[in-house]
Amino acid sequence: MLVKSSFPIHRLLFFFGCSVFAVGLLNLFSSQVIYRIPATMPTLFPVMTIFLMVFHFLIASFMVMKYLCDKHRLYLMAIACAFGGSALLMLGTLSSYTDWLLCSPIAKVNYNDAFIYYFFRNVMMAVLFIASIILYKYRHSEIHTLRNHIVILALIIGFTVSMLTLSWLYSSHYGGMHLLVIDNLSRHFTSLWHNYLISALIALWCLTLLTMLVITRLRNIFWFSGYFFCIFYIFTLYILQPALSVEGYGWYQSRLFETFATLFLILILLCDVFTLYRESNNKYEDSYQNSIRDPMTRLYNRSFFYDSLRTQMSGVSNSTPVSVIVCDLDHFKRINDRYGHLQGDKVIQCVADILQNAVRKGDVAARIGGEEFALLLANTDAENAHAIAERIRKSVSVQDALDPDRIPEPVTISMGIYTATQAEASQEICVQRADEAMYQAKENGRNQVIAWQA
Ligand code: GH3
Ligand code: MG
Ligand code: MG
Repeated sequence: MLVKSSFPIHRLLFFFGCSVFAVGLLNLFSSQVIYRIPATMPTLFPVMTIFLMVFHFLIASFMVMKYLCDKHRLYLMAIACAFGGSALLMLGTLSSYTDWLLCSPIAKVNYNDAFIYYFFRNVMMAVLFIASIILYKYRHSEIHTLRNHIVILALIIGFTVSMLTLSWLYSSHYGGMHLLVIDNLSRHFTSLWHNYLISALIALWCLTLLTMLVITRLRNIFWFSGYFFCIFYIFTLYILQPALSVEGYGWYQSRLFETFATLFLILILLCDVFTLYRESNNKYEDSYQNSIRDPMTRLYNRSFFYDSLRTQMSGVSNSTPVSVIVCDLDHFKRINDRYGHLQGDKVIQCVADILQNAVRKGDVAARIGGEEFALLLANTDAENAHAIAERIRKSVSVQDALDPDRIPEPVTISMGIYTATQAEASQEICVQRADEAMYQAKENGRNQVIAWQA
C-alpha cells in the first residue's frame, strides 16, 4: 500500500527562498542604519531592548488570552512562557546597562551579565518552542487528561522559572556562582563563549527549526512566524559568532534582527486573530440563518415571520399599511399519493421559489406549515397586495408547463389577504384574518385570491 506522506518540498523551497530574501533585505537595511549611528551612543541598545521587551510581553499576554479561550491549546502556554520569560530576562539585560538613562558617553556596562541573560534567554526560548511544537502535535490525543494538563503546565512554568533563576544565579547580582563569557574591561569574549556557547545556541535553534518543520510540514500560517523567528535568531547568532569583542555593530544588528523577528510574529498573530474573527462571524451568521429559516425551502420559518410581523405592526398606519397573505396548496395530498413524498417536496420547493422571487427585499416569505406559506408585505395596501397575490397564483398554476421536472401536473394555490392600517390588531389577528380569507377561497372553489372582509 502506498502511504502518501511526502514532505511538501515546494513549500520548503518557497520558505527558504523567502527567508534568504528577508534576511538579505534586513541585513542591507541594518547595515545602512546601524553603521550611521555612533557606536558610543549609550541609549541605543537599552532603548531597543525596551521595545523588544514590550513586544515580547505583548506576545506572552496574547498567548495566555488565546489559551484561556481554548484550554485544549496547551502548546500556547509554552510559547507564552517563552516570551514572558524572555521579557523578564530583558529586564535583567537592562539592569546590566547602569546609568544608561543619564546618557553618559562612557556608560558603565556589565557585558558579562548582559550575555549571561542573552544565553539563558535563547536556551529557554528554543527549548520552550520545541516543547510547544510537540504539545501541538499531540493536541488532540488522549493524553490530555486534567491531571496531565496540570503536570505539563507545571513543568513548563517550572522550567521557565528555573531558567530565570539560573541566569540570576550566574549573574553578578547574586555573585555566588560564576560564568565568564566576556571580560568586562577588555570587552573580549572568552573562549567558552566563542568556541562552545554560541555554537551550542546556533545548534539549538537549528534543532528547533527542524522540529517545527518536520512536525507542522509547513501547513499552518501560525507556525510560519515560528520558522522565521528561528531563522532570524540563527542569523543573529551567526552575526555575533565571528566577533572577538563586543565592540562594533554586531550586537546592535542582532538586536535589530530580534526586533524584526518579533514584529513579524506580531503581524502573523494579528492575521490569526482576524482570521479567527472572520471564521467565528461566518459560523454565527450560518447558525443564525439556520435558526430563522426552514431547512427544506430556505424560506423564513414561522417564528421569524411572527417576530417580523410584530415589529412591523408597531409602525402601521393608513399611510404605511402592512399586508399579510396566507396561502395553501390545493389538493396537495393528491400529489403525494400519486407521485410520492419526494416529488411532493419538489413541488413545495418550487412554490417556495416562486414566493421568494415575488417579494421585495424588506418583505418576508415564510413557510408556516407543511404546504402552507405566509407573506408579509411591508408598506403595501390591499390593492397592491391583491395584485401581487394574483401574480403568484397565476405563476403557480402555469408552472407544470414551465418546470415539469418539479411540477408533474397542474398545481393551484388558494390565497387569503388581510391588510392592516391600524396598529391595534395583533400579529395573531392579522394571520387569523388572512387565514379566514384563504379558507373562503377554498370554499369558493380554490385557485383564487380573497381579501378579508369585516
Ligand atoms: P386542500 O385543498 O383542502 O388544502 O387539500 P390538501 O390535500 O392540500 O389538504 P391539506 O392542506 O390538509 O393537506 C396537506 C398535505 O400536505 C398533508 C401532508 O401529507 C402534506 N405535507 C405536509 N408537509 C409536507 C412536506 O413537507 N412534504 C410533502 N411531500 N408533503 C407534505
Ligand atoms: Mg392544502
Ligand atoms: Mg394545508
